[in-house]
Amino acid sequence: MKFVSTRGGAEKVSASRAIVMGLASNGGLFVPEKFPQVSLSELEGMIEMDYPERAAEILSKYLTDYDREGLLSACKAAYAKFDGDPAPLVRLDDGVFILELWHGPTCAFKDMALTLLPYLLRKGCDLCGIKEEILILVATSGDTGKAALEGFKDADGVKIMVFYPSDGVSKMQKLQMCTQEGGNVNVVAVKGNFDDCQTAVKEIFASADCVEKLKEHNIALSSANSINFGRLAPQIAYYFSAYLDLVSSEQIAMGEEIDFTVPTGNFGNILAAYYAKRMGLPIRRLHCASNENKILTDFLETGVYDTRREFYKTTSPSMDILVSSNLERLIFEVSGRNSKLCAKRMEDLKKLGRYEITAEELAEIKQTFDGGYADEETAVEAMYDVFVDVGYTMDTHTGCAMKVAVDWFEKNKKDETNMVVVSTANPYKFPQDVLYAVTGNDVKDSFKGIKRLHAATAMAVPKCLSSLKDKTPRFTRTADAKKLFEEILEFIKK
Ligand SMILES: *Cc1c(COP(=O)(O)O)cnc(C)c1O
Repeated sequence: MKFVSTRGGAEKVSASRAIVMGLASNGGLFVPEKFPQVSLSELEGMIEMDYPERAAEILSKYLTDYDREGLLSACKAAYAKFDGDPAPLVRLDDGVFILELWHGPTCAFKDMALTLLPYLLRKGCDLCGIKEEILILVATSGDTGKAALEGFKDADGVKIMVFYPSDGVSKMQKLQMCTQEGGNVNVVAVKGNFDDCQTAVKEIFASADCVEKLKEHNIALSSANSINFGRLAPQIAYYFSAYLDLVSSEQIAMGEEIDFTVPTGNFGNILAAYYAKRMGLPIRRLHCASNENKILTDFLETGVYDTRREFYKTTSPSMDILVSSNLERLIFEVSGRNSKLCAKRMEDLKKLGRYEITAEELAEIKQTFDGGYADEETAVEAMYDVFVDVGYTMDTHTGCAMKVAVDWFEKNKKDETNMVVVSTANPYKFPQDVLYAVTGNDVKDSFKGIKRLHAATAMAVPKCLSSLKDKTPRFTRTADAKKLFEEILEFIKK
């Protein structure tokens, strides 16, 4: 399988090269030349497999230059770091399920890919004959940063540097990152919001000057952001796994179509679902859930992607995003893989803050996708209702998705298609907001929030969160978005 850039050019690269580079040299995103297919009989054969085997099966369809045995043992090692089943399905009601993706080491769905990415990258460097030390740069809206730090800490031949928006992450997320252990890690706050942070990091990747300077230090850049195909590929696997679990528990028949609702920020998670559908997984519709930053809801309605709008800080910070990078891959597909057009639109986005797709393209997107959003109040209501009705506690991001799913049920009362709502974080990652949603109580301190939430829900508190209380932050620097490269140089000289 070869990979091409969404923005064209002659460059056709292997999977390992796509993962090591992260971003194509013309700024585009790497996409597979075609979607590998999984037949129903192949699906049938995956029912008996455990999660790591299913994941290795899906990965090996894309990562054809990696050896299969290696992928399987890497999946086994990565998912052994999870607490039990890496992607359990919980039944909420008739035809409504939650796919919990937060049983990994940092309690967010990012672990599903970031526990595996270090292997994919290290092996990728070997396959490409890369001898330089790798520097991973991450711009994070909160959860990626910690998951990447945890995944890459003390990995051989790799340094990792994480940038987060100084006023854009929750206290828990910040504590998780700033207390990170490991000799090869660094964490810096960037003045501004996530988009400022992501833009600044993207500019470093795109700057020939920066790349050249790093080369002088024997360093090659790579990215662990969700634009890296090495992040996307492992995410495709859990959509297959959820489907197989529904079949094996006799909730659906093999071949029956299902829907997913996905809490969405950078469009990586839901794009993986779209890839699964294109591979032949029987998915009917994908419901894209946003918070008050509802740029995707508007786009899916009108075909206009317009970032010239107010940015809201919400209680679902990992979805506080106006530039959803992975949307580029969907735009590329529905344009008939027209890379010139895709490049033009991304240029417009950068220069004018907006772009527009054609009515035909929008119609094609709407065949699969619809969008919805929750404001702060309606997300809380959705979380509260589920807690009271069935005793299930969800985090704030999943709360947004639940609201969007409920809206769909109300508008489509006769629809009997099974719905899987994707749950992206452990509720204890956002303890005060979840406590408020389920009890109406406000507490000022996160750890008090954890204690009270435990009293209200009896849900087990993950150690990686409760133990933060006794840790002292190691990283306290704040930098201007224009000065990130200086921070990087300082770090690599150490
Ligand atoms: C990252 C994240 C999201 C958004 O996922 P995308 O792939 O960026 O769309 C949603 N919820 C949580 C908890 C996250 O960490």
